[in-house]
Amino acid sequence: MKITAIRTGLLSIPLRKPFKTALRTLERQSSIVVAIDTDAGKVGWGEAPPTGAVTGESLGSIRGAIHEFIAPRLIGQEVENLEVTLDTLDRAVLKNTSAKAAVDMAIYDLFGKRFGVPVYRLLGGARTKTETDLTISVNSPDEMVADAREAVGRGFRILKIKVGREPATDIERLRKIREAVGAGVVIRVDANQGWNAREAVRIMRTLEAAHLGIELVEQPLPAHDVEGMKHVRDAIETPVLADESVFSPLDAAKIIAMKAADYLNIKLMKTGGLRGALRICALAETNNIECFMGCMIESKLSVTAAAHLACARNIITRTDLDSP
Ligand code: MG
Repeated sequence: MKITAIRTGLLSIPLRKPFKTALRTLERQSSIVVAIDTDAGKVGWGEAPPTGAVTGESLGSIRGAIHEFIAPRLIGQEVENLEVTLDTLDRAVLKNTSAKAAVDMAIYDLFGKRFGVPVYRLLGGARTKTETDLTISVNSPDEMVADAREAVGRGFRILKIKVGREPATDIERLRKIREAVGAGVVIRVDANQGWNAREAVRIMRTLEAAHLGIELVEQPLPAHDVEGMKHVRDAIETPVLADESVFSPLDAAKIIAMKAADYLNIKLMKTGGLRGALRICALAETNNIECFMGCMIESKLSVTAAAHLACARNIITRTDLDSP
């Protein structure tokens, strides 16, 4: 089954509520959708949102990387030669991990369709169901309490609370949310690089002393500061989840070697797709480090690819696939 063409289109969906983290505010979910045509008539689908604040990519750069660098090298490649085809994709252009992710997942989609097997089963088939958390955007403490109550009312049992925009009020935010939702709801926090090491240790120790039952803290420090993350991990009781610090399998290897985090958050838009994500899973499996499957603000198209991986591997013990 030969690749004959790669097409792209724009998807743009208004969000029910603006998405706010320490890094950015979004009103719409926009993506480049990729369709890969083959001589067998089968079409593979993929998607990449422009997450400039995290991956450095825009709608234009995703489209440009695909049409200028990736498509000319992939057209004519055989889908069945998965290793060769994905090597070609990997070498077509440096970085541009979201553009690569969209194409990678479309190739896996075709590979599964070619052999009539769902991708989650091709990649391991560990389970058929996974439970996602729901993210509460960073807003005033009262608004976050209302959002948390509503989420629990809708049946979510795990909440991811965005903090890190104003460290001074983060403790108040979490105290009020825990009070509102009760002890039965899992609460994890994501600072999205918003703290420095001193703030992170002070805030987390205060939360620990208040017995707020915070499951873990995600990416407390700027992405590059892996040494700082190791310092924070050693200074607090709460487990640390690395997100923006881990893009590639090499990043994961470094974090594991330094013992800088308890968990790794895998996102297809950071790894360049399922193949890079599987390599992180292999490192994590070898070192017994549990992984999260996360997503950017994506539609159900690319989140479906992420859900397939989350259901494929036992080492992915938690999912944060709430965007759709
Ligand atoms: Mg995160």
